[in-house]
Amino acid sequence: MASYNIFLLPGDGIGPEVTAEVEKVAKIVSDAGLAKFEFEKGLVGGSAYDAHGLAISEADMARAQAADAVLLAAVGGPKWANVPYEVRPEAGLLRLRKDLGLFANLRPAICYPALADASSLKRDIVEGLDIMIVRELTGGVYFGEPKEITNLPNGQKRAVDTQVYETYEIERIAAVAFELARKRNNKVTSSEKHNVMKSGVLWKEVVTDLHKKSYADVKLEHMLADALGMQLVRWPKQFDVIVTDNLFGDMLSDVASMLTGSLGMLPSASLGEADANGKRKAMYEPVHGSAPDIAGKGIANPIAMIGSFGMALRYSFGLIEAADLIEKAISDVLAAGLRTADIKGEAASSISTSAMGDAIANALKKAI
Ligand code: NAD
Repeated sequence: MASYNIFLLPGDGIGPEVTAEVEKVAKIVSDAGLAKFEFEKGLVGGSAYDAHGLAISEADMARAQAADAVLLAAVGGPKWANVPYEVRPEAGLLRLRKDLGLFANLRPAICYPALADASSLKRDIVEGLDIMIVRELTGGVYFGEPKEITNLPNGQKRAVDTQVYETYEIERIAAVAFELARKRNNKVTSSEKHNVMKSGVLWKEVVTDLHKKSYADVKLEHMLADALGMQLVRWPKQFDVIVTDNLFGDMLSDVASMLTGSLGMLPSASLGEADANGKRKAMYEPVHGSAPDIAGKGIANPIAMIGSFGMALRYSFGLIEAADLIEKAISDVLAAGLRTADIKGEAASSISTSAMGDAIANALKKAI
């Protein structure tokens, strides 16, 4: 039986509560003989600052580099609002993304039928929605230089951020999107603003060339990012895989997240370059933060975290069937009416984090 080393970073706030539920689900997959998982635990964010005065220690960085996959919950909270900028909780997250070279951020937006009424859009628009947003994560305007605020002679100030992309950065993120589309509904929508931005002109050109050269079997369409924002709330089911840059991806994936009802439902994956064996460095994490307002109360929704483990099975370990079964277990539990407080809606009552983890583990045990 294959064995995988998962480096678990529970982080802060509700992090430790939701990661505990992943271990229950992983045990069911192991007991069924599909794979073995070794969980090693580390510290990131505020908890690492409290222990070492750093947002992540060098020893934990080395463990993250060596692991088959990193599973991170969330970092941050008011307790660390005034720590020095270089060691603020988010610095741990950024260091992991940068040092592991995680350039591709995958955010699925799936709307489980049982939760369609929790969306801000009408049921028929979101029910059964299953799209994947692929966001470039290590380039673009968040990292481009110069990035500065300067004083002008007239007493005013001038702020500059630089949107910059090179061919290889666009090619590799587009390749991830095309590969994913082949395993889904075979359609990619590439998005930029070529009408007003040079980086958009290059983006469109590179994606079109790569498509022609290597992925002509996949349906490709281009859509301006503003139009895509509009279409996402008008008729989101027209999309399969969306690929876009760091800035537009940040905004569009947040819009897509609200289509599905709750932040507590959304997993994500961040992938690096494939090595000679096709293996990629990878980190899986829920989209939500550390939710300090509910931390320690035992009411956080563990589904995004469990879904992130499911994504690790799918994208790092090739355990597609087990990943499908985890998604089905989540869907079954929701269909049975079980809800944590954040997705309670009109339901009469809600269950705890731990009870939701148990319910998903039991549903998986029955199905596996
Ligand atoms: P948040 O995602 O932590 O919380 C937003 C709202 O959603 C809160 O009301 C919270 O209770 C609720 N929520 C989030 N996850 C939930 C879950 N699993 N179950 C039930 N309810 C859930 O965002 P925020 O409040 O803006 O930020 C709180 C802290 O988290 C800040 O320090 C922020 O910097 C940090 N943060 C970290 C990450 C990350 O680690 N990737 C992402 C976003 C925010």
